[in-house]
Amino acid sequence: MAKKSTDEESVAKLVLDIEQIDFRTLAEDAPVMLWLTNSTGENIFSNSIYKNFIGRENVEKQGGTAWFNALHPDDQQMCLDIFSDAFQTHKAFDMEYRLKRRDGEYRYILDRGEPYIDRHGKFSGFIGSSTDISDRKTSEDDLIKSHKELMQYNHEMSLINQLNSYLQVCRALPETYPVISHYADQIFPNWSGSLYLFDENKSLVEAMASWGNVSVRSADIIAADDCWALRQGKEHIALDIDNRLSCNHVHDDIGSYTCVPIIAQGEMLGMLHMEYSSDTVTFETTEEKQRYFDSRQRLMKIAADNLALSLVSLNLREALKYQSIRDPLTSLFNRRYMEECLQMEISKSARTGGGLGVIMSDIDHFKKFNDTYGHDAGDLVLVEFAKLLTKSFRDSDIICRFGGEEFIIIMPAASQKLVLERANKMCNKVREFEIFYDNKLLPNVTSSFGVAYLSDDFEHASQIVKYADTALYKAKHAGRDQVMLYEMQENEDDEGLTRR
Ligand code: GH3
Ligand code: MG
Ligand code: MG
Repeated sequence: MAKKSTDEESVAKLVLDIEQIDFRTLAEDAPVMLWLTNSTGENIFSNSIYKNFIGRENVEKQGGTAWFNALHPDDQQMCLDIFSDAFQTHKAFDMEYRLKRRDGEYRYILDRGEPYIDRHGKFSGFIGSSTDISDRKTSEDDLIKSHKELMQYNHEMSLINQLNSYLQVCRALPETYPVISHYADQIFPNWSGSLYLFDENKSLVEAMASWGNVSVRSADIIAADDCWALRQGKEHIALDIDNRLSCNHVHDDIGSYTCVPIIAQGEMLGMLHMEYSSDTVTFETTEEKQRYFDSRQRLMKIAADNLALSLVSLNLREALKYQSIRDPLTSLFNRRYMEECLQMEISKSARTGGGLGVIMSDIDHFKKFNDTYGHDAGDLVLVEFAKLLTKSFRDSDIICRFGGEEFIIIMPAASQKLVLERANKMCNKVREFEIFYDNKLLPNVTSSFGVAYLSDDFEHASQIVKYADTALYKAKHAGRDQVMLYEMQENEDDEGLTRR
């Protein structure tokens, strides 16, 4: 019994008897906002600092509902829910909400409520404190935001690195287009865009790759003058629809867009056109929107600079490769490339059993032609002769300038009959070929042809060019303007040569 009475006494001490201690006097001037409700949730007391926060005039006018009216409309329901739960369970609670301060600014408040029990052990309401945590909250939010931004930036840079590494192993420009579209889609979600590259004359840019869920509202082919970015050589930013400068190549209803020129080593290669295509992302403030577009802008510049480096090195690689296998005057393959190809074609023919023909051609009396009509006219004849060769042979034949006015045509997988036919046709065409120089018709040239053919005996295959040359030499001696076949007979009484 004695124990019970001690327990009861201690419980009685713990119970906050709001009537015995003069709570209001104590609370009135406390340096934190304090409030008190009755058991039905009505506000029956707010201290001085609380009234000052909401505004004394509001409290006087609105009484107990002043607090509710000062709540941010989006937070009212949440507060009501927590309150009604607390009044049912009589359990302590805390909640965060936005409350309008006297000056109209919404501040973040942390509210803690404790139930109080009267001396008869009956629930009588909640007593609570409210703390303005806006400053702490802002710095917390800023921290979360900058952490998010950092993660996003790392992710974007890693995608750009991946893009670069794929571009580095692309062998030709067309291979890069699907790679660029794929990565642009991931690097710029909510954006559509196109990569434009200049044509050979540098007067037009053409869309080579596009991306995004929404089709691009910009023309496929653009005159350089129709784009502010291409004209200025620097990015053009056109945000929102009103009050902006638009390029001629975009549709009138295009949303926010940007054109970023792609410049490498001072040379403009094209441009990156990007359109903002989302209405799912909303911005709470104009600053937030500005920050987003600024960060996209920086990212586009980084992407354009990386593309520039990759594209220029690819162009360079392609050009070097072209230079190393082509003759600069006629654009035919050069001798070095021909020799490499011949080796491969000989082994292929030996393996597959398909015949292989080699035609060697040399323009007749070309020295005299040059002496009479000049070197430039001679050059023109060589260029036109090369074009005629390209037109007269199959795509699979390898046509090259062997040197000077000498040409070689390798015809893989062809019969001897076909090889001779083609050589004769060419010989006839050259004789009738009309070339104008300085608006004057040049006299016709002729050409001699030596043919060597491999069908099944590959023992002397590596000598095939020499055989064609021997046949050509004979064609010259036999009066030029004709085709001679080298025949690999066992008893070569006249060096195996037959006029054809
Ligand atoms: P042939 O009928 O015996 O072949 O007589 P040809 O005069 O053609 O032979 P030759 O080998 O004596 O002279 C070849 C001439 O080809 C010498 C040179 O003036 C000319 N030639 C070689 N390369 C070029 C070139 O790149 N441009 C021009 N215009 N002429 C070239
Ligand atoms: Mg010659
Ligand atoms: Mg000649």
